Amino acid sequence: MYYVFFTGTAGSGKTTMVKEFQGYLLDQDMDVAVINMDPAVEGLPYYPDLDVREYVDATEVMRRYGLGPNSSLIASIDLLLTKASEIKGDLDSVEANYVLVDTPGQVELFAYRETGRYFSSLLVGGNKSVNVFLMDSSLAKEARSYVSLLLLSSSVRFKLGMPQVNVLSKVDLLSRDELDALMRWGEGEEIVDHLGVIDEYSFELVKALLENMEVPPVPVSSNSGEGFDELYAEIQRVVAGGEDFA
Ligand code: GDP
Ligand code: MG
Repeated sequence: MYYVFFTGTAGSGKTTMVKEFQGYLLDQDMDVAVINMDPAVEGLPYYPDLDVREYVDATEVMRRYGLGPNSSLIASIDLLLTKASEIKGDLDSVEANYVLVDTPGQVELFAYRETGRYFSSLLVGGNKSVNVFLMDSSLAKEARSYVSLLLLSSSVRFKLGMPQVNVLSKVDLLSRDELDALMRWGEGEEIVDHLGVIDEYSFELVKALLENMEVPPVPVSSNSGEGFDELYAEIQRVVAGGEDFA
């Protein structure tokens, strides 16, 4: 059993990709289950096999503790941990080759908070896992945002300690020229020329970041299905490569 997490900033396309990637795997007769890890989501385009909303209700948490939407999400994930054994029990009935995990928009949960990591390792158990980090194309086409998204991706990679595949999501929104440029940036080329005036610190940081990029972000569109073959191949490479969730 392989766990595939989908993380990224709010609106980067995680939920849509989970739905479409599930369809893609099902079309190839693969056994797929889906977990919704977002306690605050209102409607889902798929039927989750496990849904954290059955254990905590973020709206109820918000009301009861007088919290705003962001803090109620964080509190909800904390509360989920107190129901760990119940969730673990229910998880035992989820049987599939691939388990896709849709995550909340608050990416800070995975970049800065211990709970994101705890809860993920609870789900994964002794299985192999990979984190698909979505870089929204409509943000990434601006050079500084591209670099910032790479830094955020590195933060999540570092904090979560899970093998990771970066994806450039919604590439159908890019023109051919924009996509070509982003592909070259992914290879570490040209991007410095598009950053405008940057100080020495930033220059060295960008250089180190690009040199240490494991694989360039995979261009994907959940709308057209473009890039799903490549994404699947990357996921396979990672899980078959044998790196474990540290
Ligand atoms: P999440 O917040 O990361 O779960 O993002 P959603 O999956 O809810 O998507 C946010 C918005 O982006 C929605 O309006 C989607 O219809 C749209 N979206 C998601 N994937 C794609 C894509 O591949 N192409 C385009 N054009 N729009 C997309
Ligand atoms: Mg979502």
